[in-house]
Amino acid sequence: MALNFYIFHLFYKFKVLVLVTLCSMALGATFCYFVDSREQIFKAKSMVQDFRKVISLHGSQKEEKIESIAEVPIVKSFQSRCPTLSPYLRGTSKLTFKASLTLEEVQKENPQVAKGRYHPTECSALQRVAILIPYRNREKHLLYLLEHLHPFLQRQQLDYGIYVIHQAGSTKFNRAKLLNVGYIEALKEANWDCFVFHDVDLVPENDFNSYMCDRQPKHLVVGRNSTGYRLRYKGYFGGVTALTRDQFSKVNGFSNSYWGWGGEDDDLRIRVQMQKMKVVRPSAEVGRYTMIFHERDRGNEVNQERMKLLRQVSKTWKKDGLNSCSYKLLSVEHNPLYVNITVDFSMQLKIS
Ligand code: BGC
Repeated sequence: MALNFYIFHLFYKFKVLVLVTLCSMALGATFCYFVDSREQIFKAKSMVQDFRKVISLHGSQKEEKIESIAEVPIVKSFQSRCPTLSPYLRGTSKLTFKASLTLEEVQKENPQVAKGRYHPTECSALQRVAILIPYRNREKHLLYLLEHLHPFLQRQQLDYGIYVIHQAGSTKFNRAKLLNVGYIEALKEANWDCFVFHDVDLVPENDFNSYMCDRQPKHLVVGRNSTGYRLRYKGYFGGVTALTRDQFSKVNGFSNSYWGWGGEDDDLRIRVQMQKMKVVRPSAEVGRYTMIFHERDRGNEVNQERMKLLRQVSKTWKKDGLNSCSYKLLSVEHNPLYVNITVDFSMQLKIS
């Protein structure tokens, strides 16, 4: 009987011991699991942080700011940067201009453009580019340019916006001042990295002609059909140029004093050279444009003062430019395919 009791007691103790061991093992395993997952989470977090650091090292100042904001959803910051050479580029295309083309048709072809803006969804664009087009009475030219430029810029995977700066009234046309207005007004909407100053009658033929800014001011029109695709002259800096926000502000923008045709682009080149910057161009094969033919507009007669003005750039540039660009802003309309900025210069004609 006593032996039985002793065996039973021993068995009971053994059961308790097994139970305690099992419980401690379970507790230990749970503890290890939590410690391990915390470590995994910590590791994942630091990987994300390292990844962000790498991205922001390559990025622009604006992007650096965005990346450092903790609330930015992780998915967004994981989006990789677009490649330097977009996979959608096609090279030279034969341009056609259909007489019956309408704005509605161009809108339908560009469903991802809203209020003149687009950004790629598959990657984060390398630059934010504002295209500035000085404008008066060239409806058909604008339509053709929009038709070709929107898909062209989308193939280049750019984050871009198109601004048309329209000079109201019948005072002499002032291309340069309109472009200064475009720069000032576009910067009120977004922190653009790069500005492309674009004539309305020039359509790019080759999408390898990158509408991104360079370390130096860039002249994109090496040749056009109307001149046998040859550079007009060595210092030619007209038609389409691309300058970063800083390059343009460093030269105080364009002069506001060129009323009528000619000279303002040469003036900008002199400003650029005075700041020890160098004009760069794409190759002749890439920098090709089709010029849509037109007669000289009324109100844009040749500026007879231009040679005189060009001789004075070194004395005038500091006071005549972005810092003295006065204008009456009549309206800013956000159309589906472009932002339309209308200005009146009639009051400024005598003072600038
Ligand atoms: C004018 C420029 C113009 C160039 C090409 C020069 O004489 O000053 O404004 O772009 O000719 O036509």
